[in-house]
Amino acid sequence: MRPKKPPVVRERFGVLLHSIRFRLVLWFTAILAVILFAFSAFLYYTQSRNLQEEAIHEMDRRVTGLATNIQTALRQGSGQISIPNGMLRDTDVFILLSPEGTVLASQGPIPAQEAIQIVSAGLQTAPQTSESSAIYWTGPNSQNYAFVIAPIQSPLGINFLMIFGGILDPSALVRRFLLTLVAGSLLTLAIALAGGFWLADRAMRPVKTITQAARTIGETDLSRRLNMKSKDELGELANTFDAMLARLQAAFERQRQFVADASHELRTPLTIVNLETSRAIASHRSPQEYQHALSIIHSENDFMTSLVNDLLTLARMDAGQTTIEKTPLDLSDVAVETVERLTSLATRNGVTLEAGSLPETRILGDRQYLLQMLSNLVENAIKYTTGDVKRVCVETGTADGSAWVRVSDTGPGIAPEHIPHLFDRFYRVDKARTRDTETDSDPESPSGSGLGLSIVQWIAQVHGGEVGVESTLGAGTAFEVRFKAV
Ligand code: ADP
Repeated sequence: MRPKKPPVVRERFGVLLHSIRFRLVLWFTAILAVILFAFSAFLYYTQSRNLQEEAIHEMDRRVTGLATNIQTALRQGSGQISIPNGMLRDTDVFILLSPEGTVLASQGPIPAQEAIQIVSAGLQTAPQTSESSAIYWTGPNSQNYAFVIAPIQSPLGINFLMIFGGILDPSALVRRFLLTLVAGSLLTLAIALAGGFWLADRAMRPVKTITQAARTIGETDLSRRLNMKSKDELGELANTFDAMLARLQAAFERQRQFVADASHELRTPLTIVNLETSRAIASHRSPQEYQHALSIIHSENDFMTSLVNDLLTLARMDAGQTTIEKTPLDLSDVAVETVERLTSLATRNGVTLEAGSLPETRILGDRQYLLQMLSNLVENAIKYTTGDVKRVCVETGTADGSAWVRVSDTGPGIAPEHIPHLFDRFYRVDKARTRDTETDSDPESPSGSGLGLSIVQWIAQVHGGEVGVESTLGAGTAFEVRFKAV
């Protein structure tokens, strides 16, 4: 039975098999193998033919060299025919025969008589194709010999015969060449595989760092960053990751703050309702006292309803669940409708609500959202305007390709240091006017949740517009929203 691999090893092996590192190396090696194979095949094809031709040429050259040498010796009339050192190899067979068949000179690993027999046997079987044709013979140690018989004419006209045999084995050469090619290719592939793994491992190391860091980042700890300094693609990825974490952290922080603020806002009216009901049911009360308690509960209920509505609107905005349907409309119509709807509220508060100059002002917008935006601004103006002359005015107009709507009041104005924060969620200028039960807030003083202007800004922004504020302490405030005119 084969021993089973332990699960950890199997798991690691599985991870490695699916890793980019492994796939990279595999692809790289496969491509290299194809290239090497094609290159080797090309080399083999061209070189094997060259090798064969080269071997035969070499043999011819040597035979010619020997023949010339012998002819020179014969011309000089020296009785002794000797071949200069280096011309014959140890494996070569050389025999010089007289016209009568006497061996005049011989040399080589095969005895002269045996060589002559081989050649004569070969001559009977091999076809004569040229003046000096080759006879092929395989020796006892499997060496392929080629024998060549070359006639040599002496100056006296006597025909000598030279038998020359040399190892001629082009196919062995080709086999050796093929072996070298295969061995070389395999070695190259092995080196490429090892080198590829090393390189891929190095290149993928930052990914491991990113993965490990990402694992340690929990939902509650978004403050961690990778802080990778490298300028390469992985450095860029890490920086993008860091930037995403920063955005997520900010979003989580905003959400946490929002939930905390919302709970705080709801806690106060709920406490007031609880106090009033407990007080009312503790003992028998007069009808006036009951009425007073109920009117407080009613007012707190109104506040909570409006707060929950605002929270819902903001939550929908944040979640991108709002559908804005923009149609061409006249901003002055929206202004008139707002004034009509809020006139009774203004009268109740002793404020004169006027529609100022309202020329046709066409924009692309969602009527319902624009109504909500203007209502929030006018309600604020009515709510916060105090003093002897209480006037709120709504106007529209166009200028430089933009359309504007302005809500101005004769209220107390807003100090410059508060203006940058007005559009923050739950921001109120006068903290004493919060509905905190611990503070002795004046029930008659205006109060709100601090969400109205955030909604105004969001509606302006989704319409491609922007909100501006001008305020003078003791003189009044004007909110102006500018859109692109059509
Ligand atoms: P709220 O529900 O408190 O009115 P808003 O976001 O509408 O919330 O307004 C934020 C703060 O801006 C208010 O608490 C108020 O102090 C100040 N504010 C808004 N409009 C006016 C105005 N017309 N005149 C003076 N102060 C204003």
